[in-house]
Amino acid sequence: MGGTKKPMYITIPGLDDGITLKAIFTTRFGGVSSPPYDTLNLSFQRDDDRNNVIENYRLLSNETGIPPDHMVLTWQVHGDKISMVDKSHCGMGLVREHELGYTDGLITAEKNIALVTIHADCVPVYLYDPVNSVIALVHSGWRGTLLNIAAKAIKLMKGRYNCKAGNIIAAVGPHIRKCCFEVRNDVYDIFLEKFPYYSYLFEPYGNNYRIDLEGIITRTLIAEGLDTRNIHDIKRCTVCEKGLFFSHRGGHGNTGAGAAVLMMVG
Ligand SMILES: [Zn+2]
Repeated sequence: MGGTKKPMYITIPGLDDGITLKAIFTTRFGGVSSPPYDTLNLSFQRDDDRNNVIENYRLLSNETGIPPDHMVLTWQVHGDKISMVDKSHCGMGLVREHELGYTDGLITAEKNIALVTIHADCVPVYLYDPVNSVIALVHSGWRGTLLNIAAKAIKLMKGRYNCKAGNIIAAVGPHIRKCCFEVRNDVYDIFLEKFPYYSYLFEPYGNNYRIDLEGIITRTLIAEGLDTRNIHDIKRCTVCEKGLFFSHRGGHGNTGAGAAVLMMVG
């Protein structure tokens, strides 16, 4: 023991400035859950004891200064529904019933509302328009990526909140990167059909293929009008760093999940 405390979360470069915007991604450390959910499991959609998960959120709240009743959680099903939330939704999915239904993405124009998505390899995409003060956070696993959920969030920001694509800053958080995201022919075929023009992002690997989810998402954001310079990639793989982050593949399907959190500070 070196006496150094392992961090409960990392901040997302390009977005988190520690003052006006909090953009974080949690690690496995600092919670109370037992293996295989050790220790900071933040998913209620696992077999972990519910009280442990609630305690983990309380501990995260202490560390971040974001009260649990200012958080809004998703209810993820690898779909593409994105919910627009405001103060009336605060605490949903955590301190009170979830009334948004299944949703894999959240948007708000209000400060002091922490959007929370849950991840164990799936890609977190953080979006921020500093001009109109709008944030969005989406859970884009391979299914969500096929459904173009990140681009859908941009369309909503433009259509419902009058955001200009050129103002939007995006960040791609830790996830299963191309180094570890190996798929069989069946999944490869679906990607090829959906994104034939991005086929250079799918690389043969033995009898399988490796797919670059970050590359696809970044290109769909650029297609929506985002400036390449405003898209930040943290370049960290949850499988390669499975000791630090929860990883579905790294844990052979039996593990907890961390959280992406995004909030404008008022
Ligand atoms: Zn990797």
